[in-house]
Amino acid sequence: MAQKQSTTEKHEFKAEIKQLLDILVHSLYTSREIFLRELISNASDALDKIRFESTKGTEIADKELPLEIKINFDEKKKLLTITDTGIGMTKDELINNIGTIAKSGSAEFLKQLKESKTDVTNIIGKFGVGFYSVFMVAEEVVIKSKSFKSESPAIEWKSDGLGNYEIKEINEDLKRGTIIEIHLKEDAKEFAEKYKIESTIKRHSNFISFPIYLENEKVNTITALWREPKSKIKKEEYTEFYKFLSFDSEEPMDTIHVSVDAPIQFSCLLFIPKKNFDLFGFNREDYGLDLYVRRVLIQHKNKGLLPEYLSFVKGVVDSEDLPLNISRETLQENAIFAKIASSITNQVLSYLLKKGKDEPEKYAEFWKEHGKVFKLGYSDYTNMDKYTQLLRFNSSTSNNADELTGLEDYTSRIKDGQKEIYYAFGNSRDAIALDPHLEIFRQKGIEVLYLYDPIDEFLISSIRKFKDFDFKSVDSTELNKIEKLNDVTEKGNKFENLDKDDEKQFDSLLAKIKEILGDRITDVKESKRLSDSPACVVNPDDSMSASMQKILRLTNKDLSVQKKVFEINKNHKLIRNLLKIFKSNSKDEYIYNVVEELYESALLLEGSLNDPYKLVKRINQMLEQSSEWYTEVKKL
Ligand code: ADP
Repeated sequence: MAQKQSTTEKHEFKAEIKQLLDILVHSLYTSREIFLRELISNASDALDKIRFESTKGTEIADKELPLEIKINFDEKKKLLTITDTGIGMTKDELINNIGTIAKSGSAEFLKQLKESKTDVTNIIGKFGVGFYSVFMVAEEVVIKSKSFKSESPAIEWKSDGLGNYEIKEINEDLKRGTIIEIHLKEDAKEFAEKYKIESTIKRHSNFISFPIYLENEKVNTITALWREPKSKIKKEEYTEFYKFLSFDSEEPMDTIHVSVDAPIQFSCLLFIPKKNFDLFGFNREDYGLDLYVRRVLIQHKNKGLLPEYLSFVKGVVDSEDLPLNISRETLQENAIFAKIASSITNQVLSYLLKKGKDEPEKYAEFWKEHGKVFKLGYSDYTNMDKYTQLLRFNSSTSNNADELTGLEDYTSRIKDGQKEIYYAFGNSRDAIALDPHLEIFRQKGIEVLYLYDPIDEFLISSIRKFKDFDFKSVDSTELNKIEKLNDVTEKGNKFENLDKDDEKQFDSLLAKIKEILGDRITDVKESKRLSDSPACVVNPDDSMSASMQKILRLTNKDLSVQKKVFEINKNHKLIRNLLKIFKSNSKDEYIYNVVEELYESALLLEGSLNDPYKLVKRINQMLEQSSEWYTEVKKL
């Protein structure tokens, strides 16, 4: 075969890589050693890929090579070399894979990187830019790689990390895989010393499932921890494995280790992190469990083993019963896979249920951290029973905004004769406390769940029931269900009952109010729910709650307000005075103003007043009038 003339091409790094390199090269990090973790994990990924290809029966160059990672060093030359017999890279792959930041969150990443002056441990692993971390310690890096595709030539890539890289074909007789030569900076020469390399591997890469040889000596322990009997594993081993898996620097909040033999064999080792990593939303896609078949990694971060609402769970699953040559694309249709997935989901939910019962304080910590994601599970109808038992809310019986209650607890406190679970939606506990709709609930001593998170509305309207109790929004209930229940507080009714004649007049006043508001409302009624407020609007029973309407208005940009029933509190000073005015002159302008004002204030309170200008203008006029009266009364 004629030898090819190799030409060297010079390429410039993409802008975001240049920025990244600039930070990495010029910052002094205390955690620089993680570059080794990143390169070893790239090597391990490349080995996983080749093993996967071979189980599929793909034709592979140098098939007989053992799957392993070799690390060599030369203290004098300040040289560290990492060699793997993995999948290798073609020229195009080198240009594309080692030339771009994989994830969309690169801007956020750079920001975080700039802010973290000394410690990059957590940031780098999470963003998939691991390779470049080598430039924290290297003044030059040479990659030599040969792809598993038999035809492709060996390629050399070289860079000092300052802006450009060179790439060329080489005629060296390379075997399949990748060699990375790291020419260390003077201040990083310790990474060409045996002790330093060995301790770094032990700390960060101990669970890599391929042998790592340091100058021909194996340094890592290859145990599939999840396959070991629980009784033999120490807590520290779990923690070490969790840190290895998740790049978390803290120990996990919970560890769930399960082995099942029948009807399908699988083991899983799962962890719930102490912190929710998805604070900014850019890690949303970065979840899933690692799926092994007979200890061979089939897929990193498989998203089908757990539903999205449990995506905070990290871990591995390994089964004897799946075929080794299963393709990632057909996993989802595999019946055994589906059974494993549903069993794992069940395991996690059962674990959480037990935690909720046995350790409510710890469960509350879990909820605070992961509840927001968990709530997304409102359409998991298969596990609805467990799901609803795991939900937590703040409620009127809580002592403060942080205290939580579950639905099971709510129903254990339910009043005799109460048929529904009531909820109110608001921005805060203080805001809900002022909601007029809650007055009757306080009077009857009925517990109300307080919802603050928009997703709570979707959740409640999707699950609809808990046991035999329907959920009802406090602003939409037909009150005949609770009116009959006994009061627990004094009504504080300072008003005489109206006589027969006044009752008639009151009915006419209601008719008048209806006339004034016209088709803006469906009806005007005497209120049974109010004690301190003069009026409120309520939603006809078959309609959506006000907060749900608000959410839909925000999402659809539809500003029309659903028609409501306007309720008037007969036993309120303002309404009694209004009745007096009405009796003397049913067309008095004051009545019009007050009715408009009460109606718009009620809409404002529940968040459905679109246009506050008229309301404010009217208030100002009324204040002006009352100031006149006030100065007269005070004889000023
Ligand atoms: P990540 O590993 O998170 O994708 P890196 O910047 O570390 O990000 O690597 C970029 C890509 O380069 C990898 O996804 C892989 O395709 C390729 N790569 C890196 N190291 C190797 C290697 N040793 N063998 C084969 N491919 C590699």
